[in-house]
Amino acid sequence: MRDFNRLRADAAIKGVLASGKPDSPVLQQQTCLRCANIWWPRRPQKPLRCPGCKSPYWDRPRKLKIAPSPVVASISRAALQDSLRTELAKALGTSQPESGGLTDRSLVKALDVLKEMKAAGRTWQEMAERVEREFGTRLDKDQLKALVR
Ligand SMILES: [Zn+2]
Repeated sequence: MRDFNRLRADAAIKGVLASGKPDSPVLQQQTCLRCANIWWPRRPQKPLRCPGCKSPYWDRPRKLKIAPSPVVASISRAALQDSLRTELAKALGTSQPESGGLTDRSLVKALDVLKEMKAAGRTWQEMAERVEREFGTRLDKDQLKALVR
């Protein structure tokens, strides 16, 4: 009987020790990624909100809204023009190195035509049709715009 009691006491002690075992969750200082608030949570669970700014997304950095258009436009305008020139030159069948002069003339002519049409107030649709008819290449409005500008 005394043995039994001692076992019970052991178990109780072990239980107490077990509840404080080292791998139990430990309180960690938290930092809000939104307002940079630093605080100690009361419970080991992940805090629901930042006590500073009340944001539930305090553990995630704010996503910057990506505004691609201005960046893309500034990067690619020249690149687009280059690739279109190449494309046009290819379409005109004058992309061979030995006929570089001819390529330039045809291309310049195509661009002149487009610029004239734009100056004359023609629509992009009309310009696209003319390019397709005379130069055999299909350009959309954005491509035309990039070329004519
Ligand atoms: Zn915060």
